[in-house]
Amino acid sequence: MPELPEVETTVRGIAPHVAGRLITRLTVHDPRLRWRVDPKLAEWARGQRIHAVQRRAKYLLLQLERGYLMIHLGMSGSLRVLPVRTAREAHDHFDVEMDSGWMLRFNDPRRFGSLHHVQGDPSAHALLKKLAPEPLEDAFDGAYLHRVLHPRRVAVKLAIMNSQLVVGVGNIYASEALFRAGIRPGRAARSLTRAQSAALAAAIKAVLTDAINAGGTTLRNYMGADGAPGYFKQKLFVYGRAGEPCLVCGTPIKQRVMGQRATFWCAVCQR
Ligand SMILES: [Zn+2]
Repeated sequence: MPELPEVETTVRGIAPHVAGRLITRLTVHDPRLRWRVDPKLAEWARGQRIHAVQRRAKYLLLQLERGYLMIHLGMSGSLRVLPVRTAREAHDHFDVEMDSGWMLRFNDPRRFGSLHHVQGDPSAHALLKKLAPEPLEDAFDGAYLHRVLHPRRVAVKLAIMNSQLVVGVGNIYASEALFRAGIRPGRAARSLTRAQSAALAAAIKAVLTDAINAGGTTLRNYMGADGAPGYFKQKLFVYGRAGEPCLVCGTPIKQRVMGQRATFWCAVCQR
């Protein structure tokens, strides 16, 4: 599933090819995405220039002259920049054609992705207004994290995966950030000290930044038909390593299911 680093990499990958371009036509081949695409969206977008590409949590925001196109990649979505007359393939759901002769094409086999148009401030949109601060911005720090974790009895791993508290931390990054911070995933959120909250905030920023940097090597894959965009390997300390030796202390990594998701940790390095 695309996580925040994959979405950020998509933003950086497509931006040079779409920013400044005029939308000559937007074609929705199949409006049945997670939410049905508004039938008026294509006509609204046509003729507008794309000023910039931004990200909020896992939403891509194309800033147009009169608002925004808001795209979510869902479980299996991807965006590619292709020549306008490229033949459609299975699961290609919409195309944003540009005056460059290239188009932005959305493919999504499972159709949990989405396309909306937003007039006015996108942060007021129903899908965005309850989201926590961006984890890579200064407003997200140890003091913020301690404030939101302190009242909660829930396991800290589940708390940091709640997008109303922390955005962009999926299952892999939750296990990895807790390992780096030396905190057991099953601990009650409210048991973290201020120092541990600060360590966890720093670890979340570090795992996301490392993943984005790893994704930087895939940027050229967003243009043209060669090479699959999106996913990249980074060094994982605990995720997917049940029974294997901890890379720091050698103790076998433990695994259990929390909130229906596989969770990995080292019983020695994490307290
Ligand atoms: Zn260890």
